[in-house]
Amino acid sequence: MIPEGRIHHAPIQVSASSGSGRVSTSARAEEDARLREATSLLSATLESTADGILVVSAEGRIALVNNQFLAMWGIPRDLVDTGDDEAVMNSVLDQLADPGQFLEKVTALYADPDAESHDVLRFRDGRTFERYSRPQKVDEHVVGRVWSFRDVTEARLAQDQISRAMADLAQQANQLKTLAFQDPLTGLSNRQLFNDRLAYALAGPCGTAVDVLLLDLDDFKEVNDIHGHHAGDQMLIEVGRRLRACVRPGDVVARLGGDEFVVLLVGSLDADAAAERIVESLKAPVWIDGTMLRPSLSLGLASISEDAVDASELLRRADIAMYAAKAAGKNRYLRFQPEMMRALLERTDLDAGLRAAVDNGEIAVHYQPIVSAPLGKVVKVEALARWERDGVLVAPQQFIPAAERSGLVVEIGTEVLLRGCTELAPWLAADPVRSLAVNVSGVQLQQGNFPELLFATAESCGVDPHQLVVEVTESVFFDDDCQIRRQLVQLRSAGVRVALDDFGTGYSSLGRLQDLPVDTLKIDQSFVGMIRSGTEHLPILNCMISMAHGLGLTVTAEGVETREQAEYLIQRGCDSLQGYLFSRPQPADVLPDAVAASGRVIAGLHADTDTQTQPVL
Ligand code: C2E
Ligand code: MG
Ligand code: MG
Repeated sequence: MIPEGRIHHAPIQVSASSGSGRVSTSARAEEDARLREATSLLSATLESTADGILVVSAEGRIALVNNQFLAMWGIPRDLVDTGDDEAVMNSVLDQLADPGQFLEKVTALYADPDAESHDVLRFRDGRTFERYSRPQKVDEHVVGRVWSFRDVTEARLAQDQISRAMADLAQQANQLKTLAFQDPLTGLSNRQLFNDRLAYALAGPCGTAVDVLLLDLDDFKEVNDIHGHHAGDQMLIEVGRRLRACVRPGDVVARLGGDEFVVLLVGSLDADAAAERIVESLKAPVWIDGTMLRPSLSLGLASISEDAVDASELLRRADIAMYAAKAAGKNRYLRFQPEMMRALLERTDLDAGLRAAVDNGEIAVHYQPIVSAPLGKVVKVEALARWERDGVLVAPQQFIPAAERSGLVVEIGTEVLLRGCTELAPWLAADPVRSLAVNVSGVQLQQGNFPELLFATAESCGVDPHQLVVEVTESVFFDDDCQIRRQLVQLRSAGVRVALDDFGTGYSSLGRLQDLPVDTLKIDQSFVGMIRSGTEHLPILNCMISMAHGLGLTVTAEGVETREQAEYLIQRGCDSLQGYLFSRPQPADVLPDAVAASGRVIAGLHADTDTQTQPVL
């Protein structure tokens, strides 16, 4: 604008020049009138604009300012009228946030008189002006420069607000996008992203290898139940980390939910090697809160092929292969084979058949006598569920796990309890020392109301709760919520006894026994099976019996098939025996015969055996 030292003053009112003496008086009057009109027009125009206008002569002196300029810059008219242009300039510079930059621009403009320019001035007090500058010309000659200023503070603020809002929105959209495709716990991709990438890969060039590796942690529920959900989460995070390290950076590793993960390999040369690597990588122990855990997983691998080209079929195959890996003993990977389909169909068929059998009341109950060694007679029977399907008995080892998976075991267990109490009420009533044992699954106890159900059933059948035994396996104690324990305590306080079934096959140890609310230990038949001649030394078996006795528990041996086994166990103080040697499980109508036959067998044993017990160790 006005380089220092070159400012000169001109009044704001545009005044007409005095003219030449040669012009006639009337012509001069006419000329004066025209000039006055032009001046008033210019003055009115200048004052009616919202912009602040400043005109500077070619010599760098202020030639003209309008009132708006003075108001916007807060410069008193008197200061301009004094002709002290330097003071005006200083007042301008004082207000700017960056006066040096402004001066630079002004100097550059004066070096180029024809130039037009536009920029934005920022004030120290936060205001913002737009500045325009263009040359003032008379007949193509530059005679000065016109500066106009517009206060755009409000507009700028609004603009800034909009920009900030837009930036915030963009950031939020980004976050949402990330969240929409990311598993929040592990930071891996989620199901949605996996599905998208799989669809994209399958639409890719023909001949590209596409492999889906579906995997599920083995027995993860136990990690959660025994060590808590925090440990479970840590385990999932660590597994996610290891999976990532097993594949290439571009491969998709996603968590589908719970303990299920999936890996997508596109263009891989050896998916089996990747699957192998993954299974191996999980074998290294994980330390969580000072506890060492050994994760393991079952993995199913399915690859694109002529008859599996769509996403759902690939996933279905990977799922079937994963299931087969679990069934084959877990901690391994299996590639999908068509035969696996058959196993799946069988499972589905089993589930449907069982549902129908339960609905149609086709689940029967058989009873197996249990003999008391010291009393030499049958004092207990165990109720065992039976399902005859199309004339063939389905093994409980087959349908009970299926029923536990589907939850049907709750209905089956309720039915077995009701039938047992109904059918055996007269037998139980005849001798208070007799009892009926029923197997109770952890799934039934998870319902939370098992004691009430048992008490109501016993009462409706006229059975004394003291004559009932519930058999549970060690796995029910893994649940870290106390409600299962609470129910067992409630049952025992009403006289019901609790037996720990299949002892020795689960995770618990003899050391834990003293903490469990149980009365009887049932030694699993696999230990009884170790007795062959009856002369061998079996410290584990001996130890189980003496330890249980030491804790005040009674001991029942399951699966006793031979005299040698029976004699061995009796000699070591085993309290009760159960097995084919005495009787197979029988329907209620032939149970009296089975009980009598069992009584004869135990009596025969007593007659032949030296009942002197031997030391147990
Ligand atoms: P469990 O409770 O340990 O029952 C004993 C199993 O051993 C029965 O098998 C019985 O028939 C079998 N057994 C008895 N003596 C001998 C023997 O001398 N040799 C051999 N090899 N086996 C013998 P079962 O009836 O096949 O039942 C298998 C398992 O199914 C039961 O094991 C129990 O865990 C489960 N189960 C059966 N009925 C029910 C039920 O109503 N509810 C629940 N939750 N589980 C049941
Ligand atoms: Mg049992
Ligand atoms: Mg058992």
